[in-house]
Amino acid sequence: MPTETFEFQVEARQLLQMMIHSIYSNKDVFLRELVSNASDALDKLRLEALRDDALDVDVSDLHIAIEADRKARTLTVRDNGIGMSHDEVVQLIGTIANSGTAKFLRELKEAEGSAAAEGLIGQFGVGFYASFMVADEVELLTRRAGEDQGTRWMSTGEGTYTVETVDDAPQGTSVTLRLKPEDSDDQLHDYTSPWKIREIVKRYSDFITWPVRMAAETTPEDAGAAGEEADDTPREPETLNSMKALWARSRDEVSDDEYHELYKHISHDWVDPLTTVRLQAEGTFEYQALLFIPAHAPHDLFMQGYKRGIQLYVKRVFIMDDCEALMPPYLRFVKGVVDAQDLSLNVSREILQQDRQIQLMHRRLAKKVLSTVKDMMSAEPEQYATFWREFGRVVKEGLLSDFENRETILGISSFASTHDKDEPTTLRSYVDRMKEGQEHIYYLTGESRQAVENSPHMEAFRAKGIEVLLLTDPVDEVWVEADPEFDGKKLRSVAKGEVELGTEEEKKEAATEREGRQQEYADLLGWMTERLGESVKEVRLSSRLTVSPACVVSDTNGVTPALEAMYRAMGQEVPHSKRILELNAGHPLVSGLNRAYAARGEEPVTGLEETAELLYDLALLAEGGELGDPSRFVRLMADRLERTL
Ligand code: ADP
Repeated sequence: MPTETFEFQVEARQLLQMMIHSIYSNKDVFLRELVSNASDALDKLRLEALRDDALDVDVSDLHIAIEADRKARTLTVRDNGIGMSHDEVVQLIGTIANSGTAKFLRELKEAEGSAAAEGLIGQFGVGFYASFMVADEVELLTRRAGEDQGTRWMSTGEGTYTVETVDDAPQGTSVTLRLKPEDSDDQLHDYTSPWKIREIVKRYSDFITWPVRMAAETTPEDAGAAGEEADDTPREPETLNSMKALWARSRDEVSDDEYHELYKHISHDWVDPLTTVRLQAEGTFEYQALLFIPAHAPHDLFMQGYKRGIQLYVKRVFIMDDCEALMPPYLRFVKGVVDAQDLSLNVSREILQQDRQIQLMHRRLAKKVLSTVKDMMSAEPEQYATFWREFGRVVKEGLLSDFENRETILGISSFASTHDKDEPTTLRSYVDRMKEGQEHIYYLTGESRQAVENSPHMEAFRAKGIEVLLLTDPVDEVWVEADPEFDGKKLRSVAKGEVELGTEEEKKEAATEREGRQQEYADLLGWMTERLGESVKEVRLSSRLTVSPACVVSDTNGVTPALEAMYRAMGQEVPHSKRILELNAGHPLVSGLNRAYAARGEEPVTGLEETAELLYDLALLAEGGELGDPSRFVRLMADRLERTL
């Protein structure tokens, strides 16, 4: 078979350029990435051999081997794992599957040259391509288990790669790096030095459950560094990693660094996690969990098909990635390992979904994560702020789906508020600041902080100094509908129902005043309710306006227009619910209209009708809503403006 030449996909090419031009300072991690891939390949082979009797492979000595050749300046990482077919090589190594790549590359371009660029690369994790930080040519030789022919892939990372079929490749994968000259970069170590290799593997990959072996020749310098005798004969392969499952060891035996490296192996992230969560369940159903909350949200957290990061082990043996049965969707960013003692090695996803023990585990793990965040709120406020910034939007989905933990989730949530321009508030702090006579926790939903803050619905609250939560995530429209409560107080929209603010006395006073006005305006309100009957179900006087002439509100149980639009976007039929138009009797436009209506003669009342219509349209515009007939509004408005000239 002839050698074929392929071009890298555009994104892959850009990423490779960055690797070649050394944008990431910690070059050592390339080896971690190769060992991590090899370890995954061994896991996959073991599982496939278990499930497929026909697959004729030897799984008795699965391992990873590292070989360094100092004279040739090459380093090889070899595994006898699952391997790749010709098409897989082209697919997996020639392209980047990560759906957030384009966005990531854009951000990276903006950050070019700055320290932020390194952080971004770290958040992305570049896997196999990290090899090009240290090598000027990479050869990958692989044969998939069960196939006869192997594939050789070669590239210098500059635009193209070649692929050819080979007849005598061993099963599994070996990656050989032709290392860059040592003096080409001062962050480059001598990666042919057994001492250096030992150090890197120990540091980053000690917990890998397969042996990582090295058969090395020692050199005088190594012997010096390691305090051993120099000799030129090849030695017995040594195993570099301890293979100890970190989750099975007690807390004081494991350093934070070791936990972090396990996190990086599982998550393919290059930066440390925000926090580590440990759980050891004893008793009839024994299991250990070691979970991590990342320090940043992945790019594809809100995309369909986002993979959850829990790996399931049974008695130290890897069973599956992405075990969705163990973590609720609103905690899908949590990564980690769960090792159960009493499950079958053959357990399938379907069985897991139905298993009662697994459901109990799921509940307990979710509670544990939530309580960890709760502790973080008081003990590490800055860490909590990062958590909420990165994952708050996802966590709030739990307010809809996890009824059992709803109050806990509300307790660990933060919201923008009129109390502070920059800092979000917790409900606990909100409740502590509540005014005398205030019964509810008030909020307003909308598109942006600015739109919400300037909405006419806020006027009375602002005048009375009552704090309002400003909810602007799409998910906020939905969970508030479920009538949530915190600390015995209901959450109430300032755009729904009647508002009664202030002390008992003030409320009484306001009621008497309203009654008087009600009589004065009764005719106008009745007439307008009839005139605008197609759009609104009632026109009434408002107790929430101080500045604007009018606003539109929903019934206490009414659906907001934004939620209606959302249901429609999801293809659901929802009846259009009419809202209520509220007028501010203190506004000259409204009191003027009332006088004009009372003094109307026998003539047609077209002018008054138009004013009523315009009042309604203005109320819609003020809350950022859409007009039923914008061109008619413009015509009426232009006509009136003209008369002022
Ligand atoms: P990631 O590991 O983050 O998915 P990589 O670029 O490191 O990204 O690898 C891409 C894919 O190539 C892997 O997901 C895996 O399917 C395949 N792969 C890489 N190395 C090996 C290997 N040693 N054996 C088998 N498959 C491999």
